[in-house]
Amino acid sequence: MSIAENIARVEEQIAAACHRANRPRESVYLMAVSKTHPSDTILEAYAAGVRLFGENRVQEYEGKRDALLAAGIFVAPSPAIAHCIGPLQSNKATRAAQLFDSVDSVDSLRLAERLNKAAAEAKKRLPIFIEIKLSQEDSKHGLAPDAVELDALLEKLPDLTHLELRGLMTVPPYADDLEQVRPYFRQLRQLRDALAQRHPRLTFDGLSMGMSHDFVVAIEEGATLIRIGTAIFGARPAA
Ligand SMILES: *Cc1c(COP(=O)(O)O)cnc(C)c1O
Repeated sequence: MSIAENIARVEEQIAAACHRANRPRESVYLMAVSKTHPSDTILEAYAAGVRLFGENRVQEYEGKRDALLAAGIFVAPSPAIAHCIGPLQSNKATRAAQLFDSVDSVDSLRLAERLNKAAAEAKKRLPIFIEIKLSQEDSKHGLAPDAVELDALLEKLPDLTHLELRGLMTVPPYADDLEQVRPYFRQLRQLRDALAQRHPRLTFDGLSMGMSHDFVVAIEEGATLIRIGTAIFGARPAA
């Protein structure tokens, strides 16, 4: 299957899930997660209509970016944008704020402060998502839903004027049975609703949740952004 065919099939599934959930198709952004895949592959997805890309590593994205710039895909009227979705060390924050259109993996107040400073220096306003860790797995990142730091970060965000909070992101544990994954998505939605009430100075409604194997359930539970790698680009080489 070509990338274009894969995208068409994912699009069909998105449309069907939106229909079942009584949501307009436009309420869900499709992000193509292009980590480990070369810039040619990204250009193929762009040619097939994808405009939102997710990358996990600052350095890897930096390496591909020249080719993407040269191909003109970041240029108006219908430019591509790229979000950072991987864990970000504070020492990479400056570069990330310069290169990316959004950082979706913010998991500490310290990182937010660094990104704010870097965005100010770059004279831009940087959208962010806060990553939430809903399971105990070591492989997952983010702030726990009951972490004191989460409220401290939300308390501080209105003063970090170069950041713009868009919403929450999570990666639930993998399960073949999607009904076991559903409660995590529901929990993220309920957390967003509770936090939005507790922090009325902020407006954010984004829910970045759902990957290749579970995005249909995520859409049913209110995802506004789904992050699809394997179902578009095929399997990644083993790390
Ligand atoms: C790799 C990755 C994805 C995409 O996963 P697939 O299962 O290949 O769709 C989504 N989100 C994050 C944070 C990732 O690291």
